[in-house]
Amino acid sequence: MPELIMDYFRPGSLPHMWCPGCGTGIVLQSFLRTVQRMGLSRDEVVVVGGIGCSARAVSYIDFNTVHTTHGRALAFATGIKLARPDLLVFVLMGDGDASAIGGNHLIHAARRNMDLNVLVINNSVYGMTGGQCSPLTPAGSKTATSPYGSMERQLNLTGLAEAAGATFVARSTAYHSRLTSDLIEQGIANKGFSFIEVISQCPTGFGRKNKMADPAAMLQWQKQSALPAEKFIDLPPGDAKGKFPIGVLYKNQAPDFMEMYLGMSSRAGCDNDNRGKGNE
Ligand code: SF4
Repeated sequence: MPELIMDYFRPGSLPHMWCPGCGTGIVLQSFLRTVQRMGLSRDEVVVVGGIGCSARAVSYIDFNTVHTTHGRALAFATGIKLARPDLLVFVLMGDGDASAIGGNHLIHAARRNMDLNVLVINNSVYGMTGGQCSPLTPAGSKTATSPYGSMERQLNLTGLAEAAGATFVARSTAYHSRLTSDLIEQGIANKGFSFIEVISQCPTGFGRKNKMADPAAMLQWQKQSALPAEKFIDLPPGDAKGKFPIGVLYKNQAPDFMEMYLGMSSRAGCDNDNRGKGNE
């Protein structure tokens, strides 16, 4: 990590605000390793963040970054991609940001198959604001707003992304950091909406209330509960309890929004050759 910090962090951006043992830094490391491995130039990469602990990463890293409003990162990212389709646009969101206030943006960006790379760091709560219940809080878990255990069922966000039209859907965990890097690379290769959920640990906001304040114990839980998707699918229903699949969950090919847009605008007689050139 030190060399990644030297290469990709803005000078003076440290110290960061993450709690000791938080998984966000591990996921950020996976992202930066992919950028490094693929030799992507910082000028061709845009990272858009919403609001939350995970979105704070955009303040630290030295790419074209935009720190946006709560739940709206995908709307900003869509605008950026439409104006500059040549740029690689990543979106970093937390689970509350992506699935609650930002849920509608997620559905429609996936439906349009916008060529965006979305990374949702799922730590099961709104960590930054004190550990409130999010749509991805597992049922029965204690949070600041569910002290006797959440009575709501957990939203299946990867299932929602797939149903809405995403063409690449995957899951990893903070523990499986190499897999996260590989999935990010596969997501970049997909021309369309790529959605990756990374299950991460929030020892402060979630772990403490659920007797898992030790980050190592949370990583151990990720290791033991995650199964490669191809093995998970063959499990008898009783054995799947408490487990979840990781790896590529869904892949499909479909025209991305920009391809459809350019086709439509050329049928309408527009000049597409100068698109994205701004005021040069
Ligand atoms: Fe990480 Fe949770 Fe602390 Fe936020 S509150 S920085 S998610 S450990």
